[in-house]
Amino acid sequence: MAIYLDDTQRKALAHQAASWTWRTQWPTWLLIVTIYGGWFGVATHARTLGLPLTTALLALFGTWYMSLHHELLHGHPTRSPLLNALLEFAPLAVWFPYGVYRDSHLQHHDDPHLTRPERDPESYFVSQRVWQRAGLAIRTLLTFRNTFVGRLLVGPAFAIAATGVDALGKIKRGDWRDVPMWLAHLAALAALTVWLQRACSIPAWVFIVGAGYGSLSLGSIRSFQEHRAAHAHDLHSARRGHNLARISSLVWRAKSAFRDAE
Ligand SMILES: [Zn+2]
Repeated sequence: MAIYLDDTQRKALAHQAASWTWRTQWPTWLLIVTIYGGWFGVATHARTLGLPLTTALLALFGTWYMSLHHELLHGHPTRSPLLNALLEFAPLAVWFPYGVYRDSHLQHHDDPHLTRPERDPESYFVSQRVWQRAGLAIRTLLTFRNTFVGRLLVGPAFAIAATGVDALGKIKRGDWRDVPMWLAHLAALAALTVWLQRACSIPAWVFIVGAGYGSLSLGSIRSFQEHRAAHAHDLHSARRGHNLARISSLVWRAKSAFRDAE
């Protein structure tokens, strides 16, 4: 059931829901064409653009593609989860199968547990137990990860490691449901990598490390901005990404998490 801030917001949204833009969701369709067109346009012109510029542009389009993941998993541009998943099947941003990201991100939206370590997969806090057990090196890395530069440099490595550990943990517990998704993703990734190497002269490591890790790094900029613990005067700018109710919840949770960590 939808929850509204107030009656004015409910009426405004009802008005917008009747519009052509809302019903067709054409901006999202345009975005899909632009991102796929841009990514493959860059890849097929790699020899002209040169490897450094190609890598930077593929990372940029990869980040945009991950943003698109977010729209699709929240039910845009169609209400069919299967069709939305097919629109995001190509592993242009390398690392995670769409379905794995979708399930993890929807768990992140379980608002009562927002930012709570071990309940929110996108939390950048750790529980007291994990902190106590961590050695000096891991504590330093965890602290560094919560700075802007750290989020860009080591944030993706933490995310890749956490997803890998989670995937293996599920298999160990006898839960094989994600395995077909991973196999399909790895097969598509292998095919794309071979095609990039043979048809576009883009080496595999450049695609995996440069474009793939680069996409996650660039994507971290947005999440760092959106998930900062906010002061009251920051709320205005933060509202661009979230509605006020979510920010209030996030700030409250962030404060609780800080208290818990102390
Ligand atoms: Zn979301």
